[in-house]
Amino acid sequence: MSTAGPDESTVRVALRIRPQQAREKIEGCHICTCVTPGEPQVILGKDKAFTFDYVFDIDSQQDAIYSACTEKLIEGCFDGYNATIFAYGQTGAGKTYTMGTGFDVSIGENELGIIPRAVKHLYKGIDERKQAAIEQGLPPPEFKVNAQFLELYNEEVLDLFDTTRDIELRKQKSHIKIHEDANGGIYTVGVTTRTVNTEAEMIQCLKLGALSRTTASTQMNVQSSRSHAIFTIHLCQVRVCANAENQDNETDNRIMDGSSQMNEFETLTAKFHFVDLAGSERLKRTGATGERAKEGISINCGLLALGNVISALGDKSKKSSHVPYRDSKLTRLLQDSLGGNSQTVMIACISPSDRDFMETLNALKYANRARNI
Ligand code: ADP
Ligand code: MG
Repeated sequence: MSTAGPDESTVRVALRIRPQQAREKIEGCHICTCVTPGEPQVILGKDKAFTFDYVFDIDSQQDAIYSACTEKLIEGCFDGYNATIFAYGQTGAGKTYTMGTGFDVSIGENELGIIPRAVKHLYKGIDERKQAAIEQGLPPPEFKVNAQFLELYNEEVLDLFDTTRDIELRKQKSHIKIHEDANGGIYTVGVTTRTVNTEAEMIQCLKLGALSRTTASTQMNVQSSRSHAIFTIHLCQVRVCANAENQDNETDNRIMDGSSQMNEFETLTAKFHFVDLAGSERLKRTGATGERAKEGISINCGLLALGNVISALGDKSKKSSHVPYRDSKLTRLLQDSLGGNSQTVMIACISPSDRDFMETLNALKYANRARNI
C-alpha cells in the first residue's frame, strides 16, 4: 500500500449552517452568519472571517453535503483506506440531522443524512464491483460487512447494539476494551459486531442503535447530547490482486477455462467511523453543577483531545512528533482511522442565530484549528 492516502490532505473541514428554527424566528433572533459568495468562507457578525474546505449555507441540502464530504471516503474504503467523519457543534446545531444518526422513520428521502447515504453507496459499490468482475470473466470479489455502534459517555464505553433493557445491567455486563495490535491497528474486545448483508439490514441496525442511545440516556437520567455516538462499518474484501502479473493473455485464457486458482488474491480491510460528537457547548451557559458538570468536563476531555490530535496531524512541521491519541477513549478508539492513510472529515455544525453567537464563535475556532494549512 502507498504511504499517502487517496487524497493529499488527511483532514478536511466543512462548515454547515442550519436554517433558523421557527422558534428562533418567533423570538426575533437575527441571522449573524454570512457566507461569502463563491468562496468557502463565512463571516460571523461584522468581521470575524473563517475559511474552510467547504461551507454549506442555510439552504444547503443533505445530498450536497454527502457528495462533497463522504462519497470519496467510501470509494477509499474499497481500496483499503480507513475513514472517519465527525459532526461537531453545540447541541441543536444539526449534528444528528447531518449525520443521520437519528431513528426517525418518517424522514423523507431528501432529508436522509450521511450514514444512510453512505450505506446505500457501499452496497451499490459492492454490487458494481461484483458485476464488473463477472463481465471481465474474473472471479467476483467477496465482501463481508460488519457494523458496531458505540456510545462514549464519561469515558465509559456503551454498546448500542446490546439490547439489554436495564442500563445498569448493561453497564455491569459490559467489559469493552480497546487494544492496539502489532501493526498499530485498533480493535475492541467485548463489542457486539453484526454482520450485515443488505442496505435495509444496515439501516435497521442504525435505527436500533439510535433508539438504544435514547433509551439509555433516559434511564441514566442524562442527556444523550453529552455523549459521543460512533457508528462503525468494517469492510473486508477478497479480490483478485490488482497488481498481480496475471494480466497477460495466457492467464486470461486460464481464467476463461474456469481454473480461477491461477489468480492471486488480496484481502483489503477498511473501517469507516461515523461520529456524532457530544455537544460542544460550554457548561456555564446551561448552568451545570454537580453530576452534570462532571459529565461536561469529561466530555470536553474527548473533544479537547480530538482537537489536539487533529491539530497535531495537520501540523506538517511536527509530522513525526507525538500525537496525543491516548488522552481520551474517543481518540484512542479512532487512532488508526485518523491521519496516516486515513481520510478524515470534520463537519462543524452551527446555528445562524445571534443568540448563539458565542458558541458559534467557539465552534468556528475549534474547526479552524483542525484545518491543516
Ligand atoms: P444536534 O444533534 O446538533 O443537537 P439536531 O441534528 O438534533 O442537532 O438538530 C436540531 C433540530 O434542527 C432538529 O429538529 C433538526 O431536525 C433541525 N435541523 C438541523 N439541521 C437542519 C437542516 N440543515 N435543515 C433542516 N432542519 C435541520
Ligand atoms: Mg444530536
